[in-house]
Amino acid sequence: MSDSVSKSGKAAGMAFVTGGSRGIGAAICRQLAADGYAVAVGYGHNEAAAQSVVAAIRDAGGTAEAVHVDVSELDSIDDRIGEAEAALGRLSVLVANAGVTGEARRVDEQSLGNIEDVFRVNAVAPIACAQAAVRRLSTRHGGQGGAIVIMSSVAAHSGGAGGLATYGASKGAMETFILGLGKEVADEGIRVTGVAPGIIDTDMPPDELREAAETVVPMGRLGKPAEIADAVSWLVSDRASFVTGESVTVSGGR
Ligand code: NAP
Repeated sequence: MSDSVSKSGKAAGMAFVTGGSRGIGAAICRQLAADGYAVAVGYGHNEAAAQSVVAAIRDAGGTAEAVHVDVSELDSIDDRIGEAEAALGRLSVLVANAGVTGEARRVDEQSLGNIEDVFRVNAVAPIACAQAAVRRLSTRHGGQGGAIVIMSSVAAHSGGAGGLATYGASKGAMETFILGLGKEVADEGIRVTGVAPGIIDTDMPPDELREAAETVVPMGRLGKPAEIADAVSWLVSDRASFVTGESVTVSGGR
């Protein structure tokens, strides 16, 4: 299948989005499809949700396929990207979005398994995704360049309120990785960036945090998944051609 073509007529290539089945990831898939990418809608556990994102994209005239990629199965990630390339064309954009909060409780009350799981999904897996992407995109490996976006969080800077210190630490690791990888591949045609969302209206924020948004968010509301997707759309585009190694906070001023 040929590369997808944007409204400007430019071949945009394939965008591989982990955690594309719900919430922020689903909004990113829809936006990148509208931008002209052929989108691999990655899902971990919710195939039906991923298929409905694919259906919405196709109804709007875009190109998408659902791809099962449980990012905690690190060995499978490279193969899943390869399968998406076979179906949708050359990888151009990776969005490592899949994430979990894990147990929201004090660290001294968390299981070691939780700590390991949160870091596996939120930190080790995005690095494994980025590794697979760099091997395909880097001009050093014969690739044509591209963009990598990793989903961070304001918790990377705040430490993670309400029992989310482990979660915050996993996102803090990603802020450092974005900076380091951005420098590592800057002259190989790859830009590496992140988005650090505030409290966004998805299944993820606990009820207490959602209810507190009016007071703890300077703009007085939850963010919308589409507002994060807009930032990703800009970051992967040529309009952000001199931006690498950093993340953009989208938090309503929080
Ligand atoms: P969400 O609504 O809970 O969705 C989480 C997504 O991650 C789902 O698509 C889920 O897919 C996927 N996922 C979870 N574990 C996975 C695994 N092992 N393998 C593959 N996919 C997996 O969360 P969200 O709010 O959209 O969050 C998306 C990203 O934004 C996360 O990295 C999160 O940390 C970050 N973030 C969110 C907020 C917020 O307030 N919502 C704030 C800051 C940062 P399946 O259901 O198919 O498994």
